[in-house]
Amino acid sequence: MKLLSIASEIYPLIKTGGLADVVGALPGALTGEGVETRTLVPGYPAVIAHLGKAKILKRYDALFGVRATLLSAKVDGLDLFVLNAADFFARPGGPYGDATGNDWTDNWRRFAALSRVGADIAEGAVKGWRPDVVHVHDWQAAMTAAYMRFGPAHSVPKVVTIHNLAFQGRFDAEIFGELGLPPEAWGVDGVEYYGGTGYLKAGLVSADAITTVSPTYAEEIRSPVHGMGLDGLINGRVDRLHGILNGVDTDIWNPAADPSIPRTYSGRALSGRIANRIALEKCFGLDHDDAPLFIIVSRLTWQKGMDLMIDAMDHLVALGGKLALLGSGDHPLEGAFPGAADRHRGRVGVQIGYDEGLSHLMQAGGDAILIPSRFEPCGLTQLYGLRYGCLPVVARVGGLADTVIDANEAAVNAGAATGIVFAPSDPLALHGAIGRAVRLHGDKSAWQAMQRAAMRADVSWSQSAARYAALYRDLLAQVR
Ligand code: ADP
Repeated sequence: MKLLSIASEIYPLIKTGGLADVVGALPGALTGEGVETRTLVPGYPAVIAHLGKAKILKRYDALFGVRATLLSAKVDGLDLFVLNAADFFARPGGPYGDATGNDWTDNWRRFAALSRVGADIAEGAVKGWRPDVVHVHDWQAAMTAAYMRFGPAHSVPKVVTIHNLAFQGRFDAEIFGELGLPPEAWGVDGVEYYGGTGYLKAGLVSADAITTVSPTYAEEIRSPVHGMGLDGLINGRVDRLHGILNGVDTDIWNPAADPSIPRTYSGRALSGRIANRIALEKCFGLDHDDAPLFIIVSRLTWQKGMDLMIDAMDHLVALGGKLALLGSGDHPLEGAFPGAADRHRGRVGVQIGYDEGLSHLMQAGGDAILIPSRFEPCGLTQLYGLRYGCLPVVARVGGLADTVIDANEAAVNAGAATGIVFAPSDPLALHGAIGRAVRLHGDKSAWQAMQRAAMRADVSWSQSAARYAALYRDLLAQVR
């Protein structure tokens, strides 16, 4: 089976969050299911720099007004289609905005172009390679499903995956005329969304299947609280909705063979973690002692509950804990954390920024990873925490609820507990969870038993890749 995957990020070439990890890891996992994946991504500078020898498959003289080429290349085992459109993608800053965090004003055009080219490939634009199924990720690629639905490739099965419903790609109504869609595409059953144009919405109404990245989030987005304006639509299409948990790339995230950490280790030899802990403490200017060492690796946003952490830090230190935080995001939060670190020299260390290698060291040296999210479609950092024996302390939402087993008495006695789960995501419950973690950490053998149980948990892609492959096969069977 040939699968065309389309996304705006792919690890290891371009990443701002979990989307990239998923898009980078799923093709390898699907190979074992008999699915051959090729992934279409924008030609950002970081992507073009890695291409090496690329083949030109198609030229566009005026793709939404700019010159572009469609390239094919193989990078790090990934079969890529790259949309090389310098006017759209060769820019400094991030994939969606400039260095100060302002969105590019022509994002509607940039990602309509990506989606249009995705639909072209579905229609046979690449000689000798036509996909059986098209799988698009998030709003940046979602319009592919609309272009396909209103074009010659309408019968090719289309899957749209929601990685985060908070990001919807909403634009003015006026752009509709430039999207190159037929007039009937405008309307409640098309791209129109509360009087404007909605890219994710257009994808969701056009898709043959909608997936999201955990079973609990699939339920949550049916409610007004988490549905973010799309719950009505999602409830109307619930027969097409599937919650499939993300996995992790167990080669890249493997404590027994991780090149970014000073000392590799396994669940049988947890003492190897000490060298990593010492390196981590040094890196963050923390005291070296036996106190429970909490870590945070996160976007600094309201979604991630990072505002709650500012006050919780004092509480964590008062209980005898230490904290290493690595993150970037909202400017007020970026500004608030260093002050807290100054108040608690040796107990709290903060690094504002994005550092993939350091994030590995933190999972390998920390005792527990704090994730107080208000909502969390799946979350990957708790899965890395499980794999590295850095026990997740998580809010009971979305994928966090699906992947961490709370250390209640029954679970601890059964040897099943893998972390601490609290609800709701508010200061009181968060303080309580930190207190429970500190107390549990005091019992070394119970803590280590939890670490081993966590490291045994299957966080690989194998089950989820099988579920995606089964979904693709079902959709294909319906059209053949
Ligand atoms: P989201 O995609 O919502 O940000 P996820 O938990 O799904 O959250 O994925 C986040 C990914 O980004 C993980 O791979 C995590 O390790 C990584 N990450 C987040 N912040 C940083 C950072 N400041 N430095 C390095 N990696 C980070």
